[in-house]
Amino acid sequence: MLRTHTCGELTIKDAGKKVTLCGWLQRSRDLGGMTFTDIRDRYGITQLVFNMETNAALCVQARSLGREYVIRATGNVAERSNKNPKMKTGDVEVIVESLEVMNASALPPFTIEENTDGGDELRMKYRYLDIRRNPVKESLLLRARVAAETRNYLNAQEFCEIETPVLIKSTPEGARDFVVPSRMNQGEFYALPQSPQTFKQLLMVAGMDRYYQIVKCFRDEDLRADRQPEFTQIDCEMSFVEQEDILNTFEGLTKHLFNNVKGVDIGSLPRMSYADAMKHYGNDKPDIRFEMKLVEMNNVVKGKNFKVLDDSETVLAICAKGCAEYTRKQMDELTEWVKRPQIGMSGLIYARWNSDGSYKSSVDKFYASEDQQRWFEVCGGQQGDLILILAGEENKTRKAMSELRLEMGNRLGLRKAGEYKALWVLDFPLLEWNEENKRWFAMHHPFTSPKPEDIALLDSDPGSVRANAYDLVINGTEIGGGSIRIHNKALQQKMFAVLGFTPEDAQSQFGFLMNAFEFGAPPHGGIAFGFDRLCAMFGGSESIRDYIAFPKNNAGRDVMIDSPSKIAEEQLRELGIQINAQ
Ligand code: ASP
Repeated sequence: MLRTHTCGELTIKDAGKKVTLCGWLQRSRDLGGMTFTDIRDRYGITQLVFNMETNAALCVQARSLGREYVIRATGNVAERSNKNPKMKTGDVEVIVESLEVMNASALPPFTIEENTDGGDELRMKYRYLDIRRNPVKESLLLRARVAAETRNYLNAQEFCEIETPVLIKSTPEGARDFVVPSRMNQGEFYALPQSPQTFKQLLMVAGMDRYYQIVKCFRDEDLRADRQPEFTQIDCEMSFVEQEDILNTFEGLTKHLFNNVKGVDIGSLPRMSYADAMKHYGNDKPDIRFEMKLVEMNNVVKGKNFKVLDDSETVLAICAKGCAEYTRKQMDELTEWVKRPQIGMSGLIYARWNSDGSYKSSVDKFYASEDQQRWFEVCGGQQGDLILILAGEENKTRKAMSELRLEMGNRLGLRKAGEYKALWVLDFPLLEWNEENKRWFAMHHPFTSPKPEDIALLDSDPGSVRANAYDLVINGTEIGGGSIRIHNKALQQKMFAVLGFTPEDAQSQFGFLMNAFEFGAPPHGGIAFGFDRLCAMFGGSESIRDYIAFPKNNAGRDVMIDSPSKIAEEQLRELGIQINAQ
């Protein structure tokens, strides 16, 4: 080894030892006769000391070195007179006897310290320098720990890690595929997997019983904030199980990760039906760190000659505790907030229960005090509370109220960082109607099993069929999702028919799976966790990008390697691809 120790491990116990450290020069301070230089590696930072009096030549050499030079220093560990309790190695320094420059460095384009002066784009372009910074490095180390703990748990449960192919076949369901042209089969294309879904099911038919993989998946979707075209899943599948077994096994994984990565016991996970999640929270991934449930108000607001509410399909309220004192300005601001195009409501109605016991609303003209009192009863409100009401078309209003609830949760500090509330959302609908395409789509994916008791409804009332599907939701974010699968050829064919496939199309696209079901397919089911998102959650960040070593930017570009990029004419010719240059 070129070093005896890392830059993060020397303590007072090492005082007097002769050591050699290797690392990057973080910065130097010249103080008269002394030069103090911080040397950094992955493990930490150690202070090196050069003394003009005892070794002038070495001190002059040290002073000549720039930031990010790669150096190797040998010397004696000494107790510091000026200790730094914030640093792991802050009790000691190394009095350097010899110094070697292993490599020089150009002046870095931004400061490589805890806080940097580099903007996003610049840091992405020089991501390898950004990773030298503590917060980015820590995020990657956290990611590695989450992966290792995932493997520990699943290996102990007899799950077998198996790789599935990356060059597969394009299918029309789900998101858009990334495709790869085949040179040997010109005019034909592979697709990159959106997930290993069908392969993991085939591994169950193959008898592998319990599979997992921490695996890259690819989806060519329009990029929204914090979406990556390639992302990682913890992908799992089990045979001879029912929904309950999967929930228990992966509740176990979730608890194991929280315990071992965060040191937090999250207790057992509550369960909520999709219908209840929509009813009480207005969305299928409720943040249950706080209550403020949606309350249906139709019965108590209609019939008072207020046309706006009388004509609304849905009237919903939330009760914001202790907000009766909100100022006019705050109310105007909230009203503007719901009118933003992202929310799209035409207005906000409110009612206060003042500290003097009176009621005051924005619609006093239509609703007497007794009416407003009734509202507070229905909402479970108390004196000092504020009721916020939205009205309009059902889906839009519920969605908007869900957003308003989260916004109020933010404003009231109810979505506390460091508090974790996980739950299972169950009993999703199997299908959702797509108005644009005028057909049913699988809400999860076409391999998801309907609840056996609902199968009969597939013909008569497809929209009411519930699926054996489940999502793991933590703090309002969908972290995992899966289902019990169809393992019977006839039912899978039926499912494709409901989705509007002709038998021929279903056979040509998914025949490999349906044929496999003829050879003794066991009952099976599984789940996939969004690994990047899980890491971001453990790291307390909103952004998955911070947890990916080399992420793409919002335009789907890797600005470091400048990709995607054009390829040579020759390469195109070999692939049999013509690009119409216009
Ligand atoms: N393959 C599914 C997905 O990517 C997860 C699953 O059903 O296991 O969402």
